[in-house]
Amino acid sequence: MKTTYKEAPYLIDSHCHLSREEYGSDLEAVMERAASCGLRRLLVVGADIPSSRSACQVAEAHRADGVFAAVGVHPHSASSVACSSEEVRLPEELLALADAPRVVAIGETGLDYHYDHSPREVQRSSFREHIRWARRVGKPLVIHGRESYADLLSILRDEEGYGMPAVVHCFSGTEEDAEAFLSMGFFLSFAGPLTFRKNEALRQLFRALPGDRILLETDAPYLAPHPLRGRRNEPSFIGAIYSVAAEVRGTTVEALARQIRENAARLFLWPLDDEEGSVHDRPVIHD
Ligand SMILES: [Zn+2]
Ligand SMILES: [Zn+2]
Repeated sequence: MKTTYKEAPYLIDSHCHLSREEYGSDLEAVMERAASCGLRRLLVVGADIPSSRSACQVAEAHRADGVFAAVGVHPHSASSVACSSEEVRLPEELLALADAPRVVAIGETGLDYHYDHSPREVQRSSFREHIRWARRVGKPLVIHGRESYADLLSILRDEEGYGMPAVVHCFSGTEEDAEAFLSMGFFLSFAGPLTFRKNEALRQLFRALPGDRILLETDAPYLAPHPLRGRRNEPSFIGAIYSVAAEVRGTTVEALARQIRENAARLFLWPLDDEEGSVHDRPVIHD
């Protein structure tokens, strides 16, 4: 057996949910596997106040693994921060989290008209509040949209969101939707659905996007990529998404990984390299 320092491609999971609630006592093992598959930056995303707090804690505890956090309220949970039947005022205890040391983004926020877990009026009010909040603190916005891209765009235009740093995560729209978000200067992030057999149209759309505007994510624990579909998703499955993405774009995983590393750093403004010495510096053991 020989020990070598293999230069694994620098992979990024631009959107995942990693808390004790989702992974229980398995969380440490999940983080280990993430590091050993070459994941160097992970954005752990909050979906309500408790999970935003927990995203900050996970990011803090896993600084050396390149973990950062986003804080915000998912449209599903918009009702939990509503102050009336139509209006949202984001509570102080949430707003204060934007100053936590590893927080690099605001979200996820947006509109989900597929599930309608919160009334649409409340979702729209919450989305507006998140746009204003992100602008106040100067951090990028992580946007969730489902069957709602037209409304997302009209609110963004109304709030003068043109040119603000933002990513539409788990993008699943049409070419026109993509074009509209790109023209606002936004990034588009792709998850497991890019690998699903039936999604040829999404792959064709992805193939034609400008390389400097794309990101990849697992959205773990949801949406495990093919061929792991149906299992609980986790960041170490990101390799399956990078492979399909590279193949679709006619490039190598290494070249794509370099591009995405630059893109993510431009959006989230996190350091490209680890100041604190990360677990990836550990020798990789080959037998
Ligand atoms: Zn989402
Ligand atoms: Zn999410």
